[in-house]
Amino acid sequence: MTRALAYFSNDYRTARGRFMVACKTARLRVESFECPHPGRDGEPVYTDVAVLGPDNTRAALMLTSGTHGVEGFCGSAIQTGLILEGLAARMPPDLRIVMVHAVNPYGFAHLRRVNEDNIDLNRNFIDHDAAPPANPAYDELADIIAPTAHWRLATGASLARLLMHRMIHGTAKLQAAITGGQYNHPDGLFYGGRAPAWSNKTFRQIVRRRIVGAERAALLDIHTGLGPHGQGEIISSDMPGSPAHARAQAWWGERVKTTKAGESVSADLSGTLKNAFYEALPRAEATAGTLEFGTLPALQILHAMQAENWLHNNGGNHRSATQIISAMRHAFYPDSDTWKTRVWNQGCEAVEQAMAGLCV
Ligand SMILES: [Zn+2]
Repeated sequence: MTRALAYFSNDYRTARGRFMVACKTARLRVESFECPHPGRDGEPVYTDVAVLGPDNTRAALMLTSGTHGVEGFCGSAIQTGLILEGLAARMPPDLRIVMVHAVNPYGFAHLRRVNEDNIDLNRNFIDHDAAPPANPAYDELADIIAPTAHWRLATGASLARLLMHRMIHGTAKLQAAITGGQYNHPDGLFYGGRAPAWSNKTFRQIVRRRIVGAERAALLDIHTGLGPHGQGEIISSDMPGSPAHARAQAWWGERVKTTKAGESVSADLSGTLKNAFYEALPRAEATAGTLEFGTLPALQILHAMQAENWLHNNGGNHRSATQIISAMRHAFYPDSDTWKTRVWNQGCEAVEQAMAGLCV
């Protein structure tokens, strides 16, 4: 238990440092992409890519962390720990593992869920030449979901309107309205953006260079914030009965829940990394899942995000700034040894299962 805790860091700089040391110790090649927007103290921040195993294997597993910036601590710990515990030395011969550390390094360094343009990267992989997906329910609730006035953050009136919406339309519809992705409110929450973000282009480039060519490929994108505390779910966005969904179930069992059947902790989303992964690999047998770990109750997470979004939109200087940022971090990265240990154990298990599934 104590061993795994040492893989968890308290800030982006430490997390990246540990990942790089682990890669060096295991003699792994690392390719680093510098984000055009620096960290909190003006320091450069990077998306780092390590490849375990030879190129041109028939099977490839991609393991990504920090798609949602501040959620990156847990995926970073799993990546770093697996490398330090000798994963490279015990890989099946026909498999490569591509670890992408900090898909959204700006968000990771700034403790934001979104990127440098307030974009939720996991809603950004849409076809930007076509009209963006509509979300009229978000449009209707925009000032409640992302209040622009500080006093509104704590008022019961906003909550009452959300609860009213839930009473009329149900919990799933309310969750979809808030979190499903929206493309009309650049200062709001879950904004998908109107053009491909830097991280979007970088991710696609990494998939093209490191994964394309594999006959069997899998993506495990690690997140936190949805579901019961410490419990991991593999979120699939595949139709029940499809080959990709059947493979996910065969590998990960009952932990797999698909957003297409309304059984997942997540709403069905547009523009995810998983979509981009499938698009890039039309000829491969591809399987994509989000490994999502629960942290705090949904309402508490929403409050943390609302306050942090308000703070950001108002320049970041406020007497509550420290408290708001610390609540944001706690919402996606609970300071609990038990939580971290559970995350580590389930993360390792999910990776082992994907490796076994890819190499049958
Ligand atoms: Zn996430």
